[in-house]
Amino acid sequence: MTQKASDLIPSSPDNPCPVCEKEDGACAWNSDQTMTFCDTVKQMVNANEYQADIETSQKPKPNKNGKFRSPREQERAVTSATVHIQNKVQKLAIEVLEGRESEAAVGVTLAEWCKEHRHDKFAASRLLKERLEAGKKYRAD
Ligand SMILES: [Zn+2]
Repeated sequence: MTQKASDLIPSSPDNPCPVCEKEDGACAWNSDQTMTFCDTVKQMVNANEYQADIETSQKPKPNKNGKFRSPREQERAVTSATVHIQNKVQKLAIEVLEGRESEAAVGVTLAEWCKEHRHDKFAASRLLKERLEAGKKYRAD
């Protein structure tokens, strides 16, 4: 590792830790956050991957005007929504591929789920289609 301590960005009120969001300077990371030394989790993590894994319950919520506190929060919310959709689509695609549900039935389920979670229905159904096509192709091979 060639990273020097002086190259790391410490957490501060303007720049909270990408992992734990503390602002006290205990955490620090390199410029692309692939190496984030977080004092809270006591380990070095790739904050980009960590954020993709965060529980959707921790997803930052926009305020009542639909705005996020910061671009970082908005970005995190988008990342976590994407993961949320991918997980849901994956489960539904498996139902269809295993013959437990029809494609039309999961399409309806997905549309309702998107409405409930305020996700993009069109992006989700396109993703479902892609997954199903990929799955069918895989089975046909
Ligand atoms: Zn931290």
